Amino acid sequence: MSDLLRYFQSQKQAMTDLLTELVNYETPTLDKAAVDKLGAYMHAQFKSLGASSVTRIPQAKVGDFLLAKWNEDAPGKPIMFLIHIDTVWGIGTLAERPVRIDEDGKLFGPGAIDMKGGITVVLAALRGLVEQKLMPNRPIWVLMTSDEEVGSIYSIPVIQEVAPQVGLVLVMEPARSQPASFALVNSSTSSSCTAAVT
Ligand SMILES: [Zn+2]
Repeated sequence: MSDLLRYFQSQKQAMTDLLTELVNYETPTLDKAAVDKLGAYMHAQFKSLGASSVTRIPQAKVGDFLLAKWNEDAPGKPIMFLIHIDTVWGIGTLAERPVRIDEDGKLFGPGAIDMKGGITVVLAALRGLVEQKLMPNRPIWVLMTSDEEVGSIYSIPVIQEVAPQVGLVLVMEPARSQPASFALVNSSTSSSCTAAVT
C-alpha cells in the first residue's frame, strides 16, 4: 500500500468531523450573513494550510468569494479547484434533519454531497500534500464562490476572468448517475444542449 493511501485512510475520522462541521454551517445562497460565516471559516482554513495569499472578492447580495493561492512563484500554469459554499437548504433545515451517519458509514445532512463533500476533499487533499511534504512545484489555487445554487449569476464573470489564467480546473461538484436535468434539442435548423446540476 502506498504511503499516501495509508495516510488518507488514517484521515477518515478527521474528514468525517470536517464534513460534519461544514454541514453544520447553514448556508442558503441568499442569506449573505450566514454564508459569510462559513466564508470566514474557509479563510482561516486556507491560511492554516499555508496559503501564501487569500484574496477576498466582496459581494453585495451573496457571500464574499475567496481566491486562495499556494506556491504562487512556482513554474507552470496553476491547478485550480473550483468550489461553492452555498446550498439550497434554508436556515432551520438542520433542526429537522441533523447530520447523521448510518450503519454503512454514510453521512447525511443538508448539502453534505453538494458541495460540502467536495470541499472536504479539497481541504483534506491540501492538508495531506502539506503534511506529507508532497505539494507539487506548481501553483495551486482554490476559487471559492457562494452563488452556484442560483445559477452563479455573480460568479460567472469572476470564473471567466480567473479560469483562462490556469492550466487545469477541478470542479468539485458531485458526480451523479443521472444528470439533475438535461435537455438536448436537435433539429435540421438548430442544435443546442443544456445541462444543469445544482
Ligand atoms: Zn453544487
